Amino acid sequence: MSYGLTDEQRMFQNTVRRLAQEKVAPRAAEIDATGEFPWDMVELFRDNGLIGVGMPESVGGGGADLLTFCLAVEEVARVCATSSLIIAAQHLGAMPILVAGTPEQKARFIPVVASGEHLSAFALTEPEAGSDAGGTKTRAVRDGDHYRINGTKVFITNGGIAKTIVVFASTAPEKGIRGISAFVVDGDQSGVSVGRIEKKMGIRGSQTAMLNFDDVVVHQDRRLGEEGDGFKIAMRTLDRTRPGIAAQALGIAQGALDVGRAHVQTRKQFGQNLSEFEAIQFMLADMQTQIEASRQLLYKAAEVVETAGFAAQSSQEVTRYSAMAKLMCSDTAMRVTTDAVQLLGGYGYVQDYPAERMMRDAKITQIYEGTNQVQRLVIFRNMSSEGI
Ligand SMILES: Cc1cc2nc3c(=O)[nH]c(=O)nc-3n(C[C@H](O)[C@H](O)[C@H](O)COP(=O)(O)OP(=O)(O)OC[C@H]3O[C@@H](n4cnc5c(N)ncnc54)[C@H](O)[C@@H]3O)c2cc1C
Repeated sequence: MSYGLTDEQRMFQNTVRRLAQEKVAPRAAEIDATGEFPWDMVELFRDNGLIGVGMPESVGGGGADLLTFCLAVEEVARVCATSSLIIAAQHLGAMPILVAGTPEQKARFIPVVASGEHLSAFALTEPEAGSDAGGTKTRAVRDGDHYRINGTKVFITNGGIAKTIVVFASTAPEKGIRGISAFVVDGDQSGVSVGRIEKKMGIRGSQTAMLNFDDVVVHQDRRLGEEGDGFKIAMRTLDRTRPGIAAQALGIAQGALDVGRAHVQTRKQFGQNLSEFEAIQFMLADMQTQIEASRQLLYKAAEVVETAGFAAQSSQEVTRYSAMAKLMCSDTAMRVTTDAVQLLGGYGYVQDYPAERMMRDAKITQIYEGTNQVQRLVIFRNMSSEGI
């Protein structure tokens, strides 16, 4: 099942798979049940070079290509979606700095994120600006060579525990999308406070919080790009991180197929294993087919995005493939996890078995980093502008 991988990528995949099965899987149910952020998983990923695996070596990262990064997320998500989000969210928080930071900003802000000393966060969404991120109300007002940031962000992954936060705020509200700018803010600096911490359906060990910015003063050397570049930076970031969410979704789907398949091979009804019924075999065949089709699209997307590199402006192809991979893999995750619950019957619906957790975890992959309706909008606009 490793078509398209180099020998090195296959070896890496096997190493992460073993680590995930031995060290992450035994914690997955407990992380979900307690909803507590799993600092031990952060430690594990730090110790094994996974926390900054996709960041460049020049700034302390693992230097892995995007597909290798996706393999890490996929293998961890196969046993625990919350834990895989630690790696994906760290990548998301670093990405605006990687795509738009000066060499000095990268050298200053990335090494502590790549090593896992700081967790990072990407703070775009607001109470009134979700899918329509251009509606950002958070303001950054210039005050000499500093800015004062005021506003509220919601649903921020790692909110309250991230020390490096990229915040999107408007420096020129009259310019709309073109008035948004991006700033690197310290999570523990004066004026940053944590509001509500969300109680969630899935990925329950991940901390999702409201963040308040109350007269937060940042020097202009913490602004990424020029004033007004923020929206473009956010979109270029998502082009490069959506494959990671696709990988998370794919891992959840694969994990659910593993669980469903193992169950039907031992569960007997009507005097035989469930796996001997053709209806069950057809379900397994459909699940496998959807997973493999999704995987191939993700691998292709990873290649397209990797070829474009960190700094390049997103091409239409990068944006389209990234959105298509996220759309396809997350829809597959939802279908396959729902089928896995069905394969387990009543056991699929109760918490002693992992299928229901996987189904709850799968749902978020259709929502964050742009809902799947938004992915369809992105893909269609992109097709139209390219004349496809
Ligand atoms: C667990 C979790 C973690 C998150 N992490 C982060 C994070 O780290 N950083 C961050 O900035 N944000 C984060 N988010 C926010 C997430 O990206 C948003 O929730 C998402 O983009 C949708 O925005 P919304 O919730 O405001 O929904 P809305 O935009 O209000 O959308 C509601 C519904 O309307 C649909 N819709 C909206 N516009 C259109 C349209 N034009 N056409 C068709 N349908 C449309 C949507 O698809 C959706 O189905 C997170 C969210 C969650 C739940």
